[in-house]
Amino acid sequence: MKRTVAFLLSFLLMLSIFGCRLPEKNVSQTPQATPEVVLSTEQTEPATTAEQTPTLMPTETLLPTDTPQSAQETAPDGKGVINFTIVLHLEGWHDGENETSFRRHAEQLREYADLFEQYGATMSLESKEIIDGCINWNDNVLLELQQRGHAVGIHADAGGQDGATIRSIVRTLTEMRGKLLLLGINATFASGVASKANWVKACEDAEIDTVSCMVAYGLWSLDESLRPAEFEPYRSPSVGHAPYPFELEDRLTPWLAEDGSNWIIDDPAGKVLIIPSGLSLNNAYEELNGITGGKSELDAEDIETWQEILPRLVEASDSGKVNTFYAVWSFGSAVDMDLLEEWLQLIDGYVQSGNLRWSTIPEMAELYRANMQ
Ligand SMILES: [Zn+2]
Repeated sequence: MKRTVAFLLSFLLMLSIFGCRLPEKNVSQTPQATPEVVLSTEQTEPATTAEQTPTLMPTETLLPTDTPQSAQETAPDGKGVINFTIVLHLEGWHDGENETSFRRHAEQLREYADLFEQYGATMSLESKEIIDGCINWNDNVLLELQQRGHAVGIHADAGGQDGATIRSIVRTLTEMRGKLLLLGINATFASGVASKANWVKACEDAEIDTVSCMVAYGLWSLDESLRPAEFEPYRSPSVGHAPYPFELEDRLTPWLAEDGSNWIIDDPAGKVLIIPSGLSLNNAYEELNGITGGKSELDAEDIETWQEILPRLVEASDSGKVNTFYAVWSFGSAVDMDLLEEWLQLIDGYVQSGNLRWSTIPEMAELYRANMQ
């Protein structure tokens, strides 16, 4: 009897969490034409369609979002402005010990920033080994980029090991924040914190108020009754590395997490803002089609994938919400700069039409919190 009651309760809870999202999934299955704004770069007049009314001053049109996500029943109106950034993961290199490696990456970063800035694009840098590089080789490229309008946060890779605790995650985050403070940067956002331990509490304790790029491994910390049906007992964050929420259209809305045990439920009293992952930049085709096995270079298929998803994202946006989305990019191998610019031009078409707006992760967080009041 007890079991039946528990099962019914969790079923009802799941319905309340996911029930309202079903219409969005249906929307995603509707084939949609790519808008003509896509490849144009020199637009002076915003291109508009009935569904895509440009909103040039989005902050003034946003309505308060004091209703919890789970209580919202209405379908998105497809007229929201999507706050957009490129989240660059600066990890996986020996930039703390290898001066040549660090200097090459610092130059690469500056080269990318030069290109992005031509389009008014702002990056959100989630830094790991490069922090030590800046300190050891006396080149503060991170602060320089922050001063150029990009944002600097942390890619922690903390919490994914067996035996990780709130304390161990806090220690890593605090150490990294401390080093960034030495560089003149007050980092308030992090990725790579998914854990079986209460990572929401750990972030709160370490003064990280925003978490990006959360992956399925982070579902481990939930009360078992709250884990979505797709959950598997992932052995590591790299096994459970699919972005959460699983559906693309569900990744447009940030929410506040109160605790690791219930973080998938929006709680306006929560202290840690979850800004869900967008889509990979250099791995977009593979990610969207469920192809696993190593990361690939940015290629034409990835750009085509972005062409396909952008109209879906606009359709799933809502003018009454703070909408967010981002490209996730693993920094490292040199990228084809012409392809990168082609992608930027694609994004720029949507910026010019008012559907997307460049906004770093901390700017998104600030907008979300301001909009709650
Ligand atoms: Zn990582």
